Amino acid sequence: MTDPLEPAQFRSRLVAWLGENDLTPSADDHSLQGHLRQFARVQRALYDAGWSRYGWPEAAGGLGGPDILRAIVGEEVVGRRLVEPGPYSMLEVLAPTMIDYASPALAAEMVPKLLSGEEQWCQGFSEPGSGSDLASLTTRATPRGDTWVVNGQKVWTSFAQFSHRCILLTRTGDADTPNHEAITAFFVDLDTPGITVRPLRTMHGVDEFCEVYFDDVVIGADRMLGRPGDGWRLAMDLLPYERSTCFWQRIAYLYSRFDALIGEVKNVGQAVDSDMGEAYLALHTLRCRSRATQHRLAEGHKLGPDTSIDKVLLAGAEQRLYDTARDLLPGVIELDDTEWRTEYLYSRAATIYGGTAEVQRNIIARRLLDLGKE
Ligand SMILES: Cc1cc2nc3c(=O)[nH]c(=O)nc-3n(C[C@H](O)[C@H](O)[C@H](O)COP(=O)(O)OP(=O)(O)OC[C@H]3O[C@@H](n4cnc5c(N)ncnc54)[C@H](O)[C@@H]3O)c2cc1C
Repeated sequence: MTDPLEPAQFRSRLVAWLGENDLTPSADDHSLQGHLRQFARVQRALYDAGWSRYGWPEAAGGLGGPDILRAIVGEEVVGRRLVEPGPYSMLEVLAPTMIDYASPALAAEMVPKLLSGEEQWCQGFSEPGSGSDLASLTTRATPRGDTWVVNGQKVWTSFAQFSHRCILLTRTGDADTPNHEAITAFFVDLDTPGITVRPLRTMHGVDEFCEVYFDDVVIGADRMLGRPGDGWRLAMDLLPYERSTCFWQRIAYLYSRFDALIGEVKNVGQAVDSDMGEAYLALHTLRCRSRATQHRLAEGHKLGPDTSIDKVLLAGAEQRLYDTARDLLPGVIELDDTEWRTEYLYSRAATIYGGTAEVQRNIIARRLLDLGKE
């Protein structure tokens, strides 16, 4: 008797299904809005056919099975460029957080909306002045009867202008509460009165992230994620998700770009030289590391600071790949308005988002290698 959830069988059934169901994106819409529309379309199709429900608990609209099935879906879908890795990553980061921290009723109501592409959500953590030092955040939530009233500002909130909801970190403790016990998370509807979303244009020419302002925004106590003071723990639990399953599909995407680079390098008559070899080695090292991480997650291990290694390797491999494109395709970054240029510029963000390279190295030195503070 064969097991349909055995990863190799699951993959071959998925690949066959993708062969029969054409989800190719429209060739003429490369806007961010177009990418998000395509993501919603693909998610809807995957959800209706069951694929995007595997690896998620039944209590939250999933069909169960190991987490590794999600990684396989992400790899196949992003590796074929059916969806872009950015929007896909929000799903892998925010759904586990809702499942772990929302009340069971809220998770059961909301998570299927995300899995089915009906909604997009965003992550409201960073603030002006509180990025690496996230615990210093100042957006405040004050209790009022059965509700909380939020005032403050978030920044770099990816896809907020397209999002229906936000997982928001706020400060709730008083001046004597230690920082890490003074933070509380909420699940906020972005159409609540008092919320203003302003997109920011990045250097790669896309309004990917936003400033989000909260002016006397009233949130029901039933939208709190966990208990008052659990927000720091939620943030620390979320970050490893940002560096596990969602990395697996980003790696598939980078491999697809590596293959495209080989084709273009040959087209312009350049030799595929040792630079390409080094870029491949960096990608392969990253993939081996991430594969071990996927297995640890699937075996039920709690991921922690060890995923900082994955983050350092990802940022290094991504930047090396696009540096190689710049070196081997003369002018393609500097002079031409191509995908390579946009992606090269975006790859510079890899050492910033999800925790900067310097901060990751500090974590590796202090928490994994026990090298002390200096
Ligand atoms: C593409 C992209 C998408 C993002 N999406 C989101 C999102 O959806 N939601 C969200 O909340 N945030 C998001 N962010 C924000 C991101 O989390 C922060 O940019 C990141 O945490 C760094 O914070 P910062 O920008 O305030 O830089 P800072 O913390 O001010 O850092 C500035 C410089 O100082 C260095 N530095 C800081 N502290 C130390 C230290 N202790 N030791 C050594 N060096 C240090 C840093 O490495 C960096 O080089 C996104 C960022 C990017 C680039």
